[in-house]
Amino acid sequence: MIDTIPFTDSAVAVLGLGRSGLAAARALMASDAHVWAWDDNAEVRACAAQSGVPLVDLEACDWKEPKALVLSPGIPHSFPKPHPVVNLARQAACEIVGEVELLARAQRQASYIGVTGTNGKSTTTALLGHILHSAGREAETGGNLGVPALELKPLGATGVYVLEMSSFQLELTPSLVLGVAALLNISSDHLDRHGSMEGYIAAKESIFRSQRASGVAVVGIDDAHCRAIFERLKAEGDRALIPISGSRRAPGGVYVIDGTLFDDIEGDAVSMLDLSGVHTLPGEHNWQNAAAAYAVAKAAGAAPGAIISAISDYPGLAHRQELVAVIDGVAYVNDSKATNPDAAVKALSCYHSIYWIAGGRLKEGGLEALEEGLGRVSHAFLIGEAMNAFAEAFKGKTPLTKSGKLETAVGQARRLALKEKLEDPVVLLAPACASFDQFANFEARGDAFRKLVTGRDAVMKTEARS
Ligand code: ADP
Repeated sequence: MIDTIPFTDSAVAVLGLGRSGLAAARALMASDAHVWAWDDNAEVRACAAQSGVPLVDLEACDWKEPKALVLSPGIPHSFPKPHPVVNLARQAACEIVGEVELLARAQRQASYIGVTGTNGKSTTTALLGHILHSAGREAETGGNLGVPALELKPLGATGVYVLEMSSFQLELTPSLVLGVAALLNISSDHLDRHGSMEGYIAAKESIFRSQRASGVAVVGIDDAHCRAIFERLKAEGDRALIPISGSRRAPGGVYVIDGTLFDDIEGDAVSMLDLSGVHTLPGEHNWQNAAAAYAVAKAAGAAPGAIISAISDYPGLAHRQELVAVIDGVAYVNDSKATNPDAAVKALSCYHSIYWIAGGRLKEGGLEALEEGLGRVSHAFLIGEAMNAFAEAFKGKTPLTKSGKLETAVGQARRLALKEKLEDPVVLLAPACASFDQFANFEARGDAFRKLVTGRDAVMKTEARS
């Protein structure tokens, strides 16, 4: 745990007492700050109080006292509208920060790597952690992924924190300086929290804002938004810039063509690795993640040979195209983390003869992105609140069944896959939706799928650290 946050004897408000908020409260208490913690949910508050976290009603307190408000990532500070506590803090000119900001202030000597993008952040962060550990580096991975930033180990000058940065966290980390920062891709997601696509792009681009002249920017060039950012950074010309791609040449960068990863950073396009044999990183989207991880690790000083060997034995993350089981010739793949159409269509692109389980709580941005994957779908089984919207959107384009519940969908998909006897059938959970209509979160949805398939509870797969 981090226990040297420079707020000794000062009051610090903490709003939101989920895992990261609680970690922030505990780390601040261990740093001798006076914690004023609050959560709108009474049950969550009671739980926090039971574990010794002091509660103060932040809508009814004297805002002259707190030196800072630590905001959980789920709580809006701008769009759709700021939480009332955020308004009170702003009126009192109290600074508003995220947990990663506290880590940066406590661990000033350490190096920092940040990874952002609409999709692929966790995979790239976990892969980087695996590469750096395999290369013998003292590295901690966390942030949005797995372990909250303030539960990471203190590292000091020799260590490197690899942080998965959501756009919300980027907005709340003014003093974080990233030695290497990576932006993977941008497609519409979370627009409700950013007001507009422009706001979302600006939040993502801000990952490069803090970088000093010695910083390295790794930028995906597979989508138009990121290509525009790459061109802007190139025009600024004040930092090392490495383009990456999972599907096209990226001169001066790292890219993958038909599964082969090339290192062209020195301009000699060396073929490094055949990724088509790495079963934990299937598809061009994962090749984009692998190219980014290679570029970042090399920029952070890891040797190419060590990087390649670590990518080859990357163990994978739960809920990301996780092969749960192969039963009677049918593969069952859990991609519960595919919570938006762009992620789900990437998963669809990896298999043929797909019995696809989709639906949940619809996100903004429409379902059109999914259409290019429908050719590989043998049958769609639709669940959750979005069931009718999906049925309407896919009518006449793919055979479909309104299953309603995950349990029903898994049973129906299994029976049809066994009956149709197509080549290499895959029952794929890639919902393209949030899980909150039927599950606590995407992990609970993926765990339920695994249990329905295998009859067994989750085997904890390596999360951030491997
Ligand atoms: P994030 O942390 O950004 O949500 P993850 O690494 O957890 O991303 O992957 C979430 C899902 O997004 C995966 O299950 C996969 O379907 C899809 N995905 C992974 N990497 C990419 C990528 N580079 N581009 C698009 N989709 C991706």
